[in-house]
Amino acid sequence: MFENLSDRLGRVFDRLTKQGALSEEDVTAAMREVRVALLEADVSLPVARSFVKSVTQKATGSAVTKSITPGQQVVKIVHDELIKVLQGEDEPEALRIDNPPAPILMVGLQGSGKTTTTAKLAKRLKDREKKRVLMASLDTQRPAAMEQLAILGQQIGVDTLPIVPGQTAVQIAQRAKQQAALGGYDVYMLDTAGRLHIDEVLMNEVQAVRDVANPRETLLVVDGLTGQDAVNVATEFDGKVGISGVVLTRMDGDGRGGAALSMRAVTGKPIRFVGLGEKMDALEGFDASRVAGRILG
Ligand code: GDP
Repeated sequence: MFENLSDRLGRVFDRLTKQGALSEEDVTAAMREVRVALLEADVSLPVARSFVKSVTQKATGSAVTKSITPGQQVVKIVHDELIKVLQGEDEPEALRIDNPPAPILMVGLQGSGKTTTTAKLAKRLKDREKKRVLMASLDTQRPAAMEQLAILGQQIGVDTLPIVPGQTAVQIAQRAKQQAALGGYDVYMLDTAGRLHIDEVLMNEVQAVRDVANPRETLLVVDGLTGQDAVNVATEFDGKVGISGVVLTRMDGDGRGGAALSMRAVTGKPIRFVGLGEKMDALEGFDASRVAGRILG
């Protein structure tokens, strides 16, 4: 994750930290390179711009440039600013999954890793928070997707709602809700159908399911390798169905990483988890300071 960005920034900061004294021009020149590196990592232009502006303001004060270790101080300022961009001003609260049975709606485009992430998150809630979880696939168009969730459920020891052919997504959501209440589950997760593109039919269906389930959390799963596209998808889903958070998948790949950096600033929604592989344990809670550390290498 972030290899290229990390390399680029590493080089810029190596140079800065090796210099004994720093002028404002040195900082400005370095920030120009930082801006290019961010844009090449597919960070959105306004985010890159405001990032550089904010770091430059803080780093060109005489307290920094005249200090004994100006380079290190600039790196520290960049680190803190990265955290701010990644998570906003506050650390996110825990998932709202008290008051059982708490519905979690999983949305996203096909191929984003939604079904895998549903199962990973269910496993995490079961293992770490000792929650009883019920998963239901609402993908009525793709029986294989329903089977996939059932197989994953068996693997990780999490119940799935029995498949009843011919039901609509809304009917399945209603059945999941009833079953979750009757069966004493803490959480039920609705894995909605993915589509190749955002289309009206998909959005109408997701809205109808949302209205039935009244989810405590609506998590959008997006492919982290798709950079600004991932952010655009998030903006659209948020506008149409309202999302409470984002899961970025494929962050184990050596993609450009820009989605992570732009997501919060552009959509205002927190990144909750990152997917780091195909295995059921490859899901990490999003930790802005760890990610900032990785970016700075
Ligand atoms: P869906 O169509 O959105 O439900 O996507 P799937 O959950 O079926 O995932 C599509 C493919 O992406 C599968 O082969 C998954 O194993 C893989 N995948 C999902 N999340 C990750 C991840 O975080 N990292 C990697 N490397 N692969 C992932």
